Amino acid sequence: MPTLIDGKSVAAELRAQLRQAVERLWQERGIRPGLALLLVGDHPASHVYVRSKAKACQEVGFFSIVEHLPADTPQTKVLEYIERWNEREDVHGILVQLPLPRHIDEQEVLLRIDPCKDVDGFHPENVGRLVIGLPGFVPCTPAGIRELLRRYVGSLSGKHVVVVGRSNIVGKPVANLLLQKTPDANAVVTVCHTGAPDLRPFTRQADVLIVAMGVAGAIGAEHVKEGAVVIDVGINRVVDSVSGKERLVGDVRFEEVFPKVSAITPVPGGVGPMTIAMLLWNTYRAATGEIWKPHEAT
Ligand code: NDP
Repeated sequence: MPTLIDGKSVAAELRAQLRQAVERLWQERGIRPGLALLLVGDHPASHVYVRSKAKACQEVGFFSIVEHLPADTPQTKVLEYIERWNEREDVHGILVQLPLPRHIDEQEVLLRIDPCKDVDGFHPENVGRLVIGLPGFVPCTPAGIRELLRRYVGSLSGKHVVVVGRSNIVGKPVANLLLQKTPDANAVVTVCHTGAPDLRPFTRQADVLIVAMGVAGAIGAEHVKEGAVVIDVGINRVVDSVSGKERLVGDVRFEEVFPKVSAITPVPGGVGPMTIAMLLWNTYRAATGEIWKPHEAT
């Protein structure tokens, strides 16, 4: 019987552990982790994400700020917020919810975040550290995937991991993370994208298949090797043909793939809850100073 990889319960366990760690940090060092969240515009899914991140902060005992700016906010104003939060000692993590409106240069904004407060791990400093295997902030979704694989699969050493998708948020960082020469990684990694005329010759070789395409139901049984582990990162909103209501589905056709695999993440309840749990842990580490600090390195 294939194993259902239960991200919801792993995330709940990580959050419960974090609540205790936050309490200890407060009692022993008088530090309460603080996360500042910036939302620009009215992207409906972004509203939901920011709300759930703020709620998660509250539940584990963090201090949080949510700043919601109108869609026509000039870039200079956005940068001012970041500068202000970079300076504040009670703000340990800064998160700018993506996507930003088109008139704002996303890279310019991410570059302005102090790398020590870059809890999303998108600053080039942290991206570079991940690539060359130095400590730094690891993006939350890839970190969550690694945690699930650690618990449900164990050693990935020598296993063939195939990643479908090369975004800066999921595909590239998860590939970089799992190919590191570390005990919890050391996989042989292949990355696929739209340049591949046919995904099947690649995906069928995967011991672990990680799908982050953003295309509902793109991956079926014909893409998957017998006994593979499948991690479905996709979150797609579709209208149910029977109920007429909106529901979330992954990039993998779950019912069709399930009998073939050894383990698989559901959508929802797989990778999704892990992303917020890792964001919280990144913020906690920023508050404790466990993560590398540039001024100490130079
Ligand atoms: P992007 O749209 O930025 O990237 C999608 C990637 O998939 C691209 O590299 C694209 O290739 C590739 N791709 C798309 N279609 C195909 C195809 N037919 N064949 C091969 N490759 C293809 O998406 P994200 O990485 O940001 O997100 C991916 C999915 O994961 C989305 O559904 C998103 O909602 C979800 N997500 C879930 C999170 C969670 O917490 N669970 C967090 C972040 C994202 P190319 O580069 O060539 O265009």
